[in-house]
Amino acid sequence: MPVSEFDLIDRYFRRQAAQRDDVVLGIGDDAAVMQVPADRQLVVAMDTLVAGRHFPPQTAAFDIGWKALAVNLSDLAAMGARPAWATLSLTVPAVDEDWLEGFATGFFQLAGQYQVALVGGDTTRGPLSVTVQVHGLVENGKALRRAGARAGQRLFITGTLGDAACALQALRAGHSVAPDRLRRLNRPEPRVDFGLALAGSGAAVIDISDGLLADLGHLLDASQCGATLWIDRLPCAPGPGPAMEPGMLDCQLQGGDDYELCFSLDAGQVGTLSRFARELQLPITEIGVIEAQTGIRCRHEDGRLYTPSGTGFDHFREVVNDQGRPA
Ligand code: ADP
Ligand code: MG
Repeated sequence: MPVSEFDLIDRYFRRQAAQRDDVVLGIGDDAAVMQVPADRQLVVAMDTLVAGRHFPPQTAAFDIGWKALAVNLSDLAAMGARPAWATLSLTVPAVDEDWLEGFATGFFQLAGQYQVALVGGDTTRGPLSVTVQVHGLVENGKALRRAGARAGQRLFITGTLGDAACALQALRAGHSVAPDRLRRLNRPEPRVDFGLALAGSGAAVIDISDGLLADLGHLLDASQCGATLWIDRLPCAPGPGPAMEPGMLDCQLQGGDDYELCFSLDAGQVGTLSRFARELQLPITEIGVIEAQTGIRCRHEDGRLYTPSGTGFDHFREVVNDQGRPA
């Protein structure tokens, strides 16, 4: 018997949704109603994943569910917000119950980890596409921004860079991919707890989704300054590393799907945040320094300038070459 849209929502999305006291009215009415505390601001982000564009068509349903929420939680992390609620707009080509079960399991596994309640959504038929909107809460005035980095501040990154992009390249080339790398591509871990620790610190923060150069470029534009990036210090997961693996450095600089936080700190703040990162068992690495001169200067440890290959990063301006001129 064909399942109706309402059965489907009940079976896969209402049943598993986390309970929160601040959800006055969740899935099932014309809209959801939530109680926002008076001393908090509401932080909202939305991201869409389209099959074939944001994930390979063969990606497991579980991973699509996980990632659709993860990429959104990463945006809340970059704002220093505590996740609370989500809505889900799901377009599927057909009602495939195994697929829906897998998708919902992935989505709710991550939602449960951060007590995110799914409060509503929309379900339509068409080419596979998933849009999630997340709502988080931050103490009044404490949201983190891309703006505010100042010359002299140190530049940090959480976790490692480049693995997801390397995994995607290998998949596209039909090569096998190490499970650790595949995990970084398919199940990114949003840095929510670290974002909460940064909240109120005044750090300039962005999450790295489109590649370090592009996204760092956004942070620097918003802060009206520039940076030197020490490319030999870019962290990567245990393995051969950029020196042994041609293309890894490009993946670190220009790849995407890292979902790490890049942030600037005053020297005096580094100790506290390093301690917190250790408690979370999340490595943070100092990768550069903020400078008044706009643009990003990529340098080796010995000071030599490095010109990133390719120009496939729209938002990245003013890459300088060895002559110190825009490339
Ligand atoms: P309407 O026609 O009023 O927009 P829908 O029939 O689209 O209502 O949805 C009925 C209820 O189910 C609403 O509360 C809506 O938020 C919820 N809903 C629909 N699709 C989803 C989904 N994919 N995930 C979670 N909730 C959903
Ligand atoms: Mg309605």
